Amino acid sequence: MGKQAGRDDGRQAANPLVRLLEAIAFLRAGLQALPDPQNDRYYAALAAVVTARLPAVYEAYDACLAETLETEGRTVTCSRGCAACCRHFVSSVEPFELVALDLFLRNRPDYGDLVVSSYRRARVYDGIVKEEGDDENAEDRALYRYFLRGHACSFLNPDGTCGVYAWRPMSCRMFYSEASPRFCAGKELASPWNKNFQVELPQEAEEALARCARLLDHLALPENLFPGLVEVNAAFGRYEVPSPAGQPGNPELRSASPPNPAPLS
Ligand code: SF4
Repeated sequence: MGKQAGRDDGRQAANPLVRLLEAIAFLRAGLQALPDPQNDRYYAALAAVVTARLPAVYEAYDACLAETLETEGRTVTCSRGCAACCRHFVSSVEPFELVALDLFLRNRPDYGDLVVSSYRRARVYDGIVKEEGDDENAEDRALYRYFLRGHACSFLNPDGTCGVYAWRPMSCRMFYSEASPRFCAGKELASPWNKNFQVELPQEAEEALARCARLLDHLALPENLFPGLVEVNAAFGRYEVPSPAGQPGNPELRSASPPNPAPLS
């Protein structure tokens, strides 16, 4: 992203939170200036805004995380290629993140397979949620049971690195461990030796992100990664697959290659 008018680069370098708030405000201004969603130019404009402005949010977000980890004296044990946590059902994903990630994925030749893979994971989770009912702990139990199934994220590379690293959502970025990776796997997740934690950013950053997200409420995207990507594809994509909610797909979607996803293990 180019320079934003009126920014003080010295202040940015010294204060990641200021940088983050400015980057979020810049993204929000772009989203506010979008044409009406019914306008033919809407999606192209949305794509242009998230592609141009979300990277600065991620860059500042990562800097904020790093500063918080240092301030809190955390001893993070995560390392490149350790993908123990990439079996979680990724939740709390912002709609502008889903749109940007879909844009990145659609240039890949395996886009169709990734949509189907996401769809299958969404269905697995839906099935578990239905079994768990709707009491206050049901979601936690469902997330734990999904994790125990061990389904790797659709975007995980065979070498354990993230295949969408630059566009991975904030939910993935904020997740760390302070224990040996073996305590991040399987039932060890519930053991006292598991030291997973999430970095919470200041409330003003969370509220600024929420204000951005509300500008895309009309898209009604799920807040979870896999069903969210399926729904973005249904709205704007090019691969026909039924939505998890059972809604008919976008009739204008072009047919891609037949689904041929690797079976879930
Ligand atoms: S998006 Fe990347 S970091 Fe997040 S769960 Fe998937 S592979 Fe892991």
